[in-house]
Amino acid sequence: MMTTGNNVDPAEVRKFDDLASRWWDPEGEFKPLHRLNPVRLGYVAERAVISGKRCLDIGCGGGLLTEGLAELGADVTGIDMAGGPLAVARMHQEISGLESIRYLESTAEQLTADETGLYDTVTCMEVLEHVPDPAGLVAACRQLVKPGGNVFFSTINRNPKSFLMAIVGAEYIMGMLPKGTHDYARFIKPSELRRWAVQAGLQFRDLSGMTHSPFNGDFKLSDDVDVNYLMHFSAPE
Ligand code: SAH
Repeated sequence: MMTTGNNVDPAEVRKFDDLASRWWDPEGEFKPLHRLNPVRLGYVAERAVISGKRCLDIGCGGGLLTEGLAELGADVTGIDMAGGPLAVARMHQEISGLESIRYLESTAEQLTADETGLYDTVTCMEVLEHVPDPAGLVAACRQLVKPGGNVFFSTINRNPKSFLMAIVGAEYIMGMLPKGTHDYARFIKPSELRRWAVQAGLQFRDLSGMTHSPFNGDFKLSDDVDVNYLMHFSAPE
């Protein structure tokens, strides 16, 4: 596995760069993110005050969640290490007329140099399974959030069912995602994510699944955390 020593896997970032122009096509390669987005946004908004608050969206890509947070009235910083998706995010921000977003090419770890404890809410959705050291990224999230603030993650569980659904099903049978999008070995069990976060000093608040309807492909919150799941943590006051 190639890394830059900066918790970035260049091969992973390249995959997102190559597909950047497709980001906002709801029926394109990022269709699953479009389908997940309302569920994730609803979950975050239910558990944290967003309006008038400062949010950080780590691994923001083309800005689906970032724009959603801005529409809810937040002042949002979106960071990513892929230049292509960031360029698309900036263009789309213009179209949407959302002025309260700042996009930066940065890792979370780099941002801790100047912005420790700055954010009311930190989101890191569908990113942990693409970095060499996910526990390190979780620790950086903990540094970036304010005392009493919230941190949200979403990622994919690691078990035979998630292999079948998220890789064989989504990439090879349904063609919902380009082949090679996900690497099974990088999937993360909820127990692992919870351990990393607690070790970093965060308090566990909730684990919820996101399951998807075989009929219309829409996702909804559920108790089933076998494949896609969300986790909410808070920082001590
Ligand atoms: N969070 C967005 C995009 C998820 S795709 C959403 O859910 O809608 C994963 C994103 O993580 C890609 O845009 C990729 O470029 C980015 N990424 C991968 N490694 C990263 C890192 N180390 N730091 C920041 N972003 C990273």
